[in-house]
Amino acid sequence: MKETIGWIGVGSMGHRMSRHLAKAGYPLVVADAVSTEKAPPGAGIAKSNAEVAARAATIILSLPDGKVSEAVARELVAAPDRKVKTVIDTSTIGIKAAEACASLLAAAGIEYIDAPVSGGTSGADKATIAVMLACSRDSYERFRALMNLMGKPFYVGPRPGQGQAVKVLNNFLSATALAATSEAIAFGTGQGIDMKVILDIVNASSGRNSATDDKFPNRILHGRFDAGFTAKLQLKDIRLYLEAARAAGIADDVAAPVVDLWSRMDAAMPGADITDMYRYTQKGRRA
Ligand code: NAD
Repeated sequence: MKETIGWIGVGSMGHRMSRHLAKAGYPLVVADAVSTEKAPPGAGIAKSNAEVAARAATIILSLPDGKVSEAVARELVAAPDRKVKTVIDTSTIGIKAAEACASLLAAAGIEYIDAPVSGGTSGADKATIAVMLACSRDSYERFRALMNLMGKPFYVGPRPGQGQAVKVLNNFLSATALAATSEAIAFGTGQGIDMKVILDIVNASSGRNSATDDKFPNRILHGRFDAGFTAKLQLKDIRLYLEAARAAGIADDVAAPVVDLWSRMDAAMPGADITDMYRYTQKGRRA
């Protein structure tokens, strides 16, 4: 019999990722503050996060932000009949929140594994997401097979927050590529050139990036605008990057205007998908 895994947060990413564990035969016990409707078929449903802590030694989190991860960590620590020994946090919460979660759990003898993910909802569906694990080597070896069911695990380093560092720098690069590609494609199509022709050429040339290679051909070219990742969530990630880069004394000449641009886009198009950056660019951003 496989170990019962606790899962807290079955939103866009969580319900997709947890499904792979259920399919592999892991008994699950699931909680979500809003709805457990999308929990994998057959999963046990807990009435609270504390109940998950009483029923599973290993708990995986997929929560919106650092405040929520910290609040949930406190609930787990305070749970009566606590069984939880390890918390694996796949949420994007930034370095400081990961450090805070790790220290408040450590004080209760619970290990915190910083394990943010990248690859979007389609990667979560296909189990191709990158899982960036910051923890001891021993813990990495212990949980590698479990993580492998949901995606591709990478060992980042021993310190909680190092996974977050790689995650937010990745999202800074991805957000920058999408914003820059939106401008470049608006320019190219304005010259009377077909978008697909531009993408085919750039993808065989030196300007190729995650927007030209994936988001434009798969989500924008045919007018779907459905990457499944909101501009609001991405803005959270790149703000975390900017804050951390500034704290580390790293240049922010590119990051600062990129964050400002995404803030303006999010304010102008509430609830927008990240791919709506192209529509925002077409409208003439500065107007
Ligand atoms: P989401 O908002 O769809 O899911 C979060 C879930 O957490 C929701 O179901 C919500 O009800 C639940 N929740 C909130 N507070 C809770 C609490 N106190 N107790 C229990 N459950 C609670 O978000 P998502 O898109 O699934 O993203 C989850 C995390 O993964 C975020 O940190 C996000 O930045 C990161 N991420 C998202 C994507 C993506 O493409 N959506 C990609 C990579 C990483």
